Amino acid sequence: MTFNEFNFKTQLQKAIDDAGFKEPSPIQADAIPIILEGKDIVGQAHTGTGKTAAFGLPILNKLECNGDVEAVVIVPTRELAMQVSDEIFRFGKFLKINTATVYGGQSYSRQLKHIDNASVIVATPGRFLDLLRDGKINIAPKYVILDEADEMLDMGFLDDIKEIFTFMPNERQTLLFSATMPPAIKKLAQTILVEPEFITITKSDVTNSKITQTFYVVEEKERDDALIRLYDFKNPEKSIIFCRTKKEVDRLSTFLVSQGFMAKGLHGDMEQRQREEAIRAFKTSKLEILIATDVAARGLDVNDVTHVFNYHLPFDSESYVHRIGRTGRAGKEGMAVSIVTPHEFRMLQKIEKNIGTKLEGRSVPNISSVKE
Ligand code: ADP
Ligand code: MG
Repeated sequence: MTFNEFNFKTQLQKAIDDAGFKEPSPIQADAIPIILEGKDIVGQAHTGTGKTAAFGLPILNKLECNGDVEAVVIVPTRELAMQVSDEIFRFGKFLKINTATVYGGQSYSRQLKHIDNASVIVATPGRFLDLLRDGKINIAPKYVILDEADEMLDMGFLDDIKEIFTFMPNERQTLLFSATMPPAIKKLAQTILVEPEFITITKSDVTNSKITQTFYVVEEKERDDALIRLYDFKNPEKSIIFCRTKKEVDRLSTFLVSQGFMAKGLHGDMEQRQREEAIRAFKTSKLEILIATDVAARGLDVNDVTHVFNYHLPFDSESYVHRIGRTGRAGKEGMAVSIVTPHEFRMLQKIEKNIGTKLEGRSVPNISSVKE
């Protein structure tokens, strides 16, 4: 199947060609025709499967560009807001579509000015709700999209989201996208969508992806040493190390820098500027390692991550799926490496059961190069 079969406007098809997209991904193939028809949908597919274009392309095709805000995309984090906004702008360039990005930590006046001539707003829930409550923006979008809905709920945005919808017109098309579909999402979908079509790209697609998953068993005190040895052994080009806490991110980044790695941390207590800088440096390959908490790395779209390391296993298997989805994106091969102590065996089994795959256990190669 090709994108031509959707009969998009020529300017949109041209941007798709420019982006080098040839075949729609499974979620795109399923969701695009239904969205074009005007139906509400709930779309579930694993991270990295192209959900942004799945809603972005059909919505762009439907915009009238009449000077009003016609579509609003709500996303969990500032990073994601910028990313989604960039992607929509990229596909809308020949249609001459303006997008505005709305998130906390930036001046109201600047964002409001951008909204004035935007057809699409990409916003995080908190700041968007502030603007609506204060009557600073008065819009009636025809399309409202919740992107990465599971993450927004995890981050405690449920009430904000519900309130945002009290400001949205009843006459609208609503789309909800999520990597996972816990009961709370289904319940939310029932209240804000009208007779939605459910599209699920199943688990087997996750395990079909080209991610090699391995684990290495160590003692608690050996974690740092094992990490360094695994870096020597695997020599990753571009990697993300996941930690469970911000404190651990800080400690580990100091340690890795002291070992000569080009590494930086990424977590929610850092200033917005520092976070943006770390992401930019990582994207442009000025950094080889990003050390992050689950929350900070949500939805982060960096295409050429070769390795994901779990310094600790996450607390639940959904986070595991999110984490390893940072690599092996867009059909590329990826490696997911977990450092595991015997204490974590139970978690490991739970993950294996939930993803329906057995991870390959290996021993840490014995080529220590930790500098004294
Ligand atoms: P998700 O939201 O499902 O995690 P994204 O929308 O962020 O995934 O897409 C992941 C990456 O794949 C992005 O870099 C995107 O540009 C790319 N991509 C999406 N759809 C296609 C496609 N049909 N062909 C090639 N690359 C694609
Ligand atoms: Mg996404």
